[in-house]
This record gives sequence, C-alpha cells and structure tokens, in this order.
Amino acid sequence: MKAFAYLTADDFEAASKALAGKGPRAVAKAGGTDLLTLLKSRLLEPDEVVNLSRAKRGAGKGELSALATLAEVAADAWVKENFPAVAKAALEAATPQVRNAGTVGGNLCQHTRCWYFRDASYTCFKRGTGDCSAAPDGAENRYHAIFPHKRCVSAHPSNLAPALIAVGAKVACVHPDGDRTLDAEILYDEGPSGRRSDTILREGELIRAVLLEPSPLAKRSTYVELRERQSFDFALASVAAALDLDGGIVKDVRIVCGGVAPVPYRATAAENLLRGRKLDVEAAARAAVAGATPLSGNGYKVPILGELVRRALTELSS
Ligand SMILES: Cc1cc2nc3c(=O)[nH]c(=O)nc-3n(C[C@H](O)[C@H](O)[C@H](O)COP(=O)(O)OP(=O)(O)OC[C@H]3O[C@@H](n4cnc5c(N)ncnc54)[C@H](O)[C@@H]3O)c2cc1C
Repeated sequence: MKAFAYLTADDFEAASKALAGKGPRAVAKAGGTDLLTLLKSRLLEPDEVVNLSRAKRGAGKGELSALATLAEVAADAWVKENFPAVAKAALEAATPQVRNAGTVGGNLCQHTRCWYFRDASYTCFKRGTGDCSAAPDGAENRYHAIFPHKRCVSAHPSNLAPALIAVGAKVACVHPDGDRTLDAEILYDEGPSGRRSDTILREGELIRAVLLEPSPLAKRSTYVELRERQSFDFALASVAAALDLDGGIVKDVRIVCGGVAPVPYRATAAENLLRGRKLDVEAAARAAVAGATPLSGNGYKVPILGELVRRALTELSS
C-alpha cells in the first residue's frame, strides 16, 4: 500500500473541507471495510486519508447518522417499527463483523464489486481506463446487470440504497460550497450517458445523515434478497418494496431492485401497473422483469428477480 497522511476530522464540515479540491489525492474513511481493500490493492492511491469516525455523529430526530453502523440500524426499534425494509436490508448485509464496522454513509458510497473494476489489468469504464470488460459476450458476467446499461454493466452492491429509496428517504450532504439535501434516488442518477463515479456527490462532498419520515408506505415495507451462500455474500438480486393499501386497492407502491443494474433499479412499469388497482402480485412480478436484457452469462437472474418481487409483495399484502 502506498504511504499516506492520516487526518482525523472533528466533524463532517472539517472533513469535507480537507477533502474538497483534491480529487483522488484525498479520500474519506468511515469504517474502512471497503476502502482498505482498495488501498491495499492500489486501486486507490491517495496522499491523504481523512478519518470520519470521530466526527460528531450529526443526527437529530428522524435522522440516521452517516456514521451509524449497519448493526445499529438493524437493531434500532424506531427503524424496525417505521421502516422495516431498512432494518431488514441492514441485517441481511455482510457478516456480523462487517455490520459492526461498516457505516450507513460507507454502505451507500461503497465501490462496485465487479471483478473487472477490482483488477487493474482489465479496462474499466468506472476506473477511466477504457471500455467495460464485463459487457462483451463470453466475459465473466454472471453477477452483473440484467437491465439496459450505458457504459458499465456492474451490479449495484448496497443493501441499504434500494431500501432507503423504497421508503422515500433523503440524504443530507455537506460541502464547503453549500450543504444540500437529496432524494436517496437522486444520489445514483446516471445522467444521459452513464457516470464513472458511484454517486453524484461532488468532490469532497460527504453524507452527514439519512433523513427518514414515517409514512403508511414506509411502515408497510420489506426487503428480500437471494444470495449464493447464506453465511455471507452479496445479493445476486434484491428487492425492497413498500406498499400503501386502502381496502385492497394500491394507493401507492415502490419497488426498488439491487444487484441487477449499476445503480438501484426502480421497477416503475410494475409500480404503474399496480397503482390505483387491486393488488395483482403475478402481474407485477412479470412487469418488473419485462425490460430485462441479460448479458451472456446471467439470464438466470431474470426469474430470480421476478420471484423476489412476488415474495416481497405477497409478504406485504398479508
Ligand atoms: C465480506 C463482505 C461482505 C459484504 N456483503 C455486503 C452485502 O451483502 N451487502 C452490502 O450492502 N454490503 C456488503 N458489504 C460491503 C459493506 O457493507 C461495506 O464495505 C460497508 O458498508 C462500507 O462502510 P464503511 O463505513 O466501512 O465504508 P468505508 O470503507 O470507510 O468507505 C467506503 C466508501 O464510502 C466513502 N464514504 C464513507 N463514508 C462516507 C460519507 N459519510 N459520505 C460520503 N462518502 C463516504 C469512502 O470514501 C469510500 O469511498 C460486504 C463487505 C464485505 C467485506
């Protein structure tokens, strides 16, 4: 690993100031569970690492600090009661050890697990070294995206992101040029031609907290995933769903999928089909996968995603 200066910030504002304007020469570290692997493999070679872990946690009522650990989120009684999808997504992630160290902010901003991204000997759109190596027929792409893609076919890795989008969460961000609050969904906006970075955060911009507002939609929400190993593994596909039912009629619904596109994938065709009508789980499961364009090695993910949508909506309707 390349030697770097290690700075510890007292709050998010100071950390953001230390990072801004330095590009890849400075990176933030929260729990370090993702960052350290990238430093060790020299995929990131910053001159400065800014440690956030002593920053004031900065969360008020209705907020989750970006420094809350996944274990804390999974165990939080208010989150479990009002945002079950978020608590379940945190509980299903990784291992107990990683959940004790990995934070909300780090989980939302973690880098893709695509093996071509993590191996410098291959070209990679996200690393800025050429075209995506996972897209061509015959590439090792069994864990990759099944929905139309722009320049990258990696699969979004975060458990929390789809769950937070499903319950309508926002993220509060800090930057020397001005703080802002974004819908969690906007954080991953790919723009018209794909985006190299994993989020739309500006250079040096940090997530301070996630803002959660209780609602009937968020209260009736769940998260389901399928992975190859039960012990610990990233999801092959995941579904976070939230449903507001009124006398059997769908008032509102959100279905957000992980592991199937480079960013969390909103199954809008299925949502539109359900809204204002009697809940039809089978039709929603079909609509959710209708636009899938799997790669040479991952057609198996299509029926898995349909089944996860079926399971999530069936659970929410009972
Ligand atoms: C064995 C293993 C299995 C895993 N399985 C899963 C899984 O099933 N599901 C899942 O979702 N994740 C999984 N993970 C990933 C894990 O959840 C993440 O590594 C962890 O959540 C990252 O949090 P961290 O605090 O350690 O982030 P760090 O490693 O410190 O940072 C990760 C990235 O986020 C940036 N960052 C950190 N905090 C902020 C902030 N507040 N604002 C802006 N940027 C920030 C850092 O600069 C860095 O780029 C797994 C990891 C391992 C090692």
